[in-house]
Amino acid sequence: MASLSSLKTCSLYLIASLSPMALGQEIIETDNHRLEEVAEGIYFAVGNDTIYTMSNALIIERDNDVVVVDSHITPAAGRALRDSIRVVTDKPVTILINSHFHYDHANGVPAFGPDIEIIGHEVTYQKLTGDPANEKTYLSSLTRFDNTVNRLEQELEAATSNDERSELQQQLEFWRAHVAAQNEIVFTPPNTTLRETMTLYRGGREIQLHFLGRAHTGGDLVIYLPEEKIVFTGDMMLGGISYLGDGYVSEWADTLQALKQLDFDLILPGHGPGIRDLSRIDSVQAYYTDLTEEVRRLKALGYSAEETATRADLRKHADTLGVNQLGANLEAVQRMYDLMDGRSE
Ligand SMILES: [Zn+2]
Repeated sequence: MASLSSLKTCSLYLIASLSPMALGQEIIETDNHRLEEVAEGIYFAVGNDTIYTMSNALIIERDNDVVVVDSHITPAAGRALRDSIRVVTDKPVTILINSHFHYDHANGVPAFGPDIEIIGHEVTYQKLTGDPANEKTYLSSLTRFDNTVNRLEQELEAATSNDERSELQQQLEFWRAHVAAQNEIVFTPPNTTLRETMTLYRGGREIQLHFLGRAHTGGDLVIYLPEEKIVFTGDMMLGGISYLGDGYVSEWADTLQALKQLDFDLILPGHGPGIRDLSRIDSVQAYYTDLTEEVRRLKALGYSAEETATRADLRKHADTLGVNQLGANLEAVQRMYDLMDGRSE
C-alpha cells in the first residue's frame, strides 16, 4: 500500500519533515483506521488507506456517550469512522465537533445521523449554509481527484507488466470509489455554534473548545482536554505548513501564540501524526511571519502574485520545514494578495 500512501502526498497539505511517530500508547487496528489511544478512552483516528479519509479525527469517550471531532471527507468515510468507533465502544455518538468548514473534515457528518448535535464556529455555519458546493477549495479538490483518476487510467493503458497493471488497477479502484462517494455529499452545517469559547463538562470529561483567532480559516476551533493535556488543532497547527488558500497568514502567528497559552504536551493535528515536539509551533509561526513579510515586500515592488510566488525566498526554513526551493505556493500568495487588495475577506 506504499504507493497509495505516496499518492496521498498529492493532497493539499504540505507536511514537511515528518516521520511517523509512535505516541507510546495502545494502537488498535480496525478495518479502516489506526486508532491510537492517546489517553484513557481518547483515540486519535487515522485512516489506513482502505478508504480515502484524508483527514484525522478524534474520538472522546465519556461516561455514557462519545464525542467525535471531525468526520472525514465523505459520508462513506464518515461511516467507516463510525464503524471503527464501534470497535472500541458501544456508547452512542451524541456530539460531533467540526474543527473548521473544509470539505475533508466536515463532509462525513451525515454518517452520524440526523439527531446528532453538531458544534462548530459561527464561520463554519456561515460557510456550510452559504455556497459550500462552490467553495474554491472544494472545487479544486474535485478537479484534483478527477485528474488523479485520469492519470491512473493513462498509466494503466501504458503499463507493460502484470504487476504494474494490478497495482495501478488497485489504485484506480481506490480513487474511483472516492470520486463516486462525492455523489452522496450533503453539506451539513453545525446546529450549535460558538464565537469564542465553550466547555462541555458532562460525562466525567472536560472538553474545551476555543477560537483563538483567524488562521487556517476564519473559524478554526481547537479542542482542548486540560486534564489529559491534549489539544486537537485541526489544520491551524500541523507538523508543517498548512494549506493557505482560505487562510489569514498575517494573523496566523498571533493565533498560534494564543495556542501556546494552553497547557498541553501533545498536539493532534488534522493531518499527519501527533506532535510532541512543541517547538514545531515556533517553526511554523516563524514561517508564516516571514511569508507575510516577504509577500508584502515583493508586492510593494510591484510584482504580480505569480511573480511573487516565484521570487519569494523562504529557504531559511529549510532545516525546520523542508523549504528547500525558492518560491512560495501560488494559491497562498494569491490569497494573500486578495486579502491585501480587499478582493476577499
Ligand atoms: Zn482545512
